[in-house]
Amino acid sequence: MNEQLRAGAKQAVGIDLGTTFSVVACLDDLGRPRTLINAEGDKLTPSTIFFESGHVVVGKEAVKAIATDAASVAECSKRELGQRFFHQTLGGRQYPPEALEAFILNKLRLDARKQIGDFEHCVITVPAYFDETRRKATQDAGFMAGFEVLDIINEPTAAAVAFGFQHGFLRPDGTSDLPRKILVYDLGGGTFDVTVMEIRGNQFNALATDGDVMLGGRDWDQRLVDFVAEEFIRKFGVDPREEPNASGRLWRECEDAKRTLSARTKATLACDYRGNAVRLEITRQRFQEMTQDLLDRTAFTTRQAIQAAGLEWKDIDRVLLIGGSSRMPAVVEMLRKLSGREPDCSVSPDEAVAHGAALHAGIILARNRGETPKFKIRNVNSHSLGVVATEAQTNRPRNAIVIPRNTPLPVNARRVFRTQKPGQRSIRVQIVEGESMSPDDCSQLGKCTVRDLPPNLPAQTPIEVQFRYEENGRLTVKVEVSGAGKQLEHELMRENSLTPEQLRSWRSYISGLPAST
Ligand code: ADP
Ligand code: MG
Repeated sequence: MNEQLRAGAKQAVGIDLGTTFSVVACLDDLGRPRTLINAEGDKLTPSTIFFESGHVVVGKEAVKAIATDAASVAECSKRELGQRFFHQTLGGRQYPPEALEAFILNKLRLDARKQIGDFEHCVITVPAYFDETRRKATQDAGFMAGFEVLDIINEPTAAAVAFGFQHGFLRPDGTSDLPRKILVYDLGGGTFDVTVMEIRGNQFNALATDGDVMLGGRDWDQRLVDFVAEEFIRKFGVDPREEPNASGRLWRECEDAKRTLSARTKATLACDYRGNAVRLEITRQRFQEMTQDLLDRTAFTTRQAIQAAGLEWKDIDRVLLIGGSSRMPAVVEMLRKLSGREPDCSVSPDEAVAHGAALHAGIILARNRGETPKFKIRNVNSHSLGVVATEAQTNRPRNAIVIPRNTPLPVNARRVFRTQKPGQRSIRVQIVEGESMSPDDCSQLGKCTVRDLPPNLPAQTPIEVQFRYEENGRLTVKVEVSGAGKQLEHELMRENSLTPEQLRSWRSYISGLPAST
């Protein structure tokens, strides 16, 4: 066992819980982040789960099972956080996506334990663009996996922290007063995230953030899969995508070819199905043409984030590339052209996020010990938060925005509602997240019903609802009845969220650990 890591055993780990790959890091005794190696000896653990009759296999072995038991393999569960159930039944059972994420986290926890000994605290990262529901689901997944989740932080922020650390911003003597504006472009397997950060001395401020939770390397794979499948159909009249195992093999083949195309200008794609086989050659040029629209989407979102930060390309000092898919030469070229400077690949695109999370975890532990933190993080919210109100003129429900997007966190906001009838005993507040004026187009965060209002309130009694958005993007709601001197803290009734009992029961099922640690 590594002595330096053993010394850090009381520390927490930082976890990059990725859509396709996850990475765990911790700090050594000098406070430097180190990536931990999993039981298979790798730094990256595929976020893939195989339900093999009666037991659960996570990682590399699960990826292999796609070729033979695709129906029992769950991939990309992160993309479905916030839904009630994962789209696919596994071993005859339906799982909430956060429970699937918990199986992954549990493996990461057990593997990390082999290296650093017993520990329970962690920081988990999420895409900056994740809404409140998905953040809550991620925190729940950590709990179900037997962790004590210290905090969740945004992936691009974590990457910027790792970058800052590597470039000496965080050492007492290395602190730079020169503010730097960094664009973090993170193209992973399933999500795209872009954030404009400012590093000012030891302070990390997110200025604006944007992204697409439905865009990532898998979409590039998909284009190749479709390309081969169409060729197959043209030749043999059958579609290899129709059978899960053949489709699984084809996906793996295409993902592999895509990686080859990052290093070489040509790759071959082979597919066999029902006794027929094709072998195709594809050039990088052709691949870039068939995926240009995907790249354009990232460019568009990037431009929007810069605008939202009130900046222009010329104000950006560094373009930081994160995420495995940023290795595609087309990405680097596009950003070079747009920004007019060479994108920065100095931090490892796979490890930066986990390293930043480990640094953040170290800061929290230090703060808990009463020490002054070496750096500070200031985040913004990625979606506007609103309540559903009835528009007076049209009598139609609309989203009244209470906290606009890209507001620095933490933030408190308040809004006054009025009772409609005399003697009204309850009032319902519906909370939504999103930019649209129409509540139907927003994501439903939850409802909060304030019961037990004092009796005999006249109509039009003001009821003040206070929202507090924490630094980590989580929300709490408080309600105050004016004049009644009554303040009520309200648990938000969330859509599609597991109850505390369900969480405890999943925790003991997945991690074998009791509810309280
Ligand atoms: P996530 O954070 O979403 O789990 P990662 O940042 O680990 O994702 O990136 C995984 C994605 O990166 C996958 O889609 C993978 O195919 C892609 N990828 C990894 N290496 C390369 C490469 N050399 N060229 C192109 N794509 C790559
Ligand atoms: Mg990632």
